Amino acid sequence: MAKKTISYPKEVVEPVAKHLQEKLSALEKKKKELRGEDPFLDKARLDDNAAVDTDAAEQIGHMRVSAVKKAYDRTIIQIRKALSRIKIGKYGVCERCGKFIDTDRLMVLPETTLCVDCEKKREK
Ligand SMILES: [Zn+2]
Repeated sequence: MAKKTISYPKEVVEPVAKHLQEKLSALEKKKKELRGEDPFLDKARLDDNAAVDTDAAEQIGHMRVSAVKKAYDRTIIQIRKALSRIKIGKYGVCERCGKFIDTDRLMVLPETTLCVDCEKKREK
């Protein structure tokens, strides 16, 4: 028996694709805005003889900005991946085991490409 290809119907996937596209551009915009918040990218900093505590505050600011940026990057990559799964008609199907991903899970995390079980296995 040939393995049946499973996929969610178009009317389910299309709104998700739209939502993901919007989320992606919002994130890319946010990422750009984030650059302006990083004190290390502030050129004036090179000239000032800032006190040590100011440096520490800048350090924290920089760390916060890069943590947020990293989180954005991760989501952006995940969304791009989900969008390419949509393109090949594999959206909502786990990329590891090939089973349907719970719709509940997709509602909460529309960019996911793994089912709960495989996600758990990956985290180990
Ligand atoms: Zn799976």
